[in-house]
Amino acid sequence: MNDCIAIVPGTFDPITNGHLDIIKRACKIFDHVIVAVAINASKMPMFDFDERVELTKRVVDEEPDLSGVEVKGIKGLLVDFAKEVNAKVIVRGLRAVSDFEYELQMAFMNRRLNKEVEMVYLMPYIKYSFLSSSIVKDVFFNGGDISKFVPGVVIEAMNKKLEERRG
Ligand code: ADP
Repeated sequence: MNDCIAIVPGTFDPITNGHLDIIKRACKIFDHVIVAVAINASKMPMFDFDERVELTKRVVDEEPDLSGVEVKGIKGLLVDFAKEVNAKVIVRGLRAVSDFEYELQMAFMNRRLNKEVEMVYLMPYIKYSFLSSSIVKDVFFNGGDISKFVPGVVIEAMNKKLEERRG
């Protein structure tokens, strides 16, 4: 039987411990995991596309449990990328009921676009169920401590970005 390849897609602006929790869970189930960093035209990201790909790669490379996980930037449709890399599964995280409606819509659309790919939803450890990239950015920009929510390299990158913005 062929190896089962799964994609964990997202904006990762920036990658958080909640994302890492989902990626680790995916690794326990699937033979190969690809983290796909998307452009996401509807969000105004703190980090641009290349920065997000780079930062996500650095974080994943630092995690001992994630050896073998690939990080790729994707510019087109997720389902096309899935076809290209022969992935049968797309993994998403479900934090609360509030995530459900959007995910359901995405799942039906993805199914219309590519019948071969299945969406799989995983719940994070409860302590991450309130965590999102947006809330991390809010806390950070208001001077709060984010060290429990993101890896150290992310804090460094956020501090650097803040300095750049301040000029
Ligand atoms: P997107 O813009 O595609 O939603 P995100 O980077 O915000 O990208 O999220 C990517 C995926 O990671 C989504 O499936 C989201 O539900 C999941 N995710 C984000 N934060 C968490 C968390 N704290 N716990 C579980 N899943 C999460």
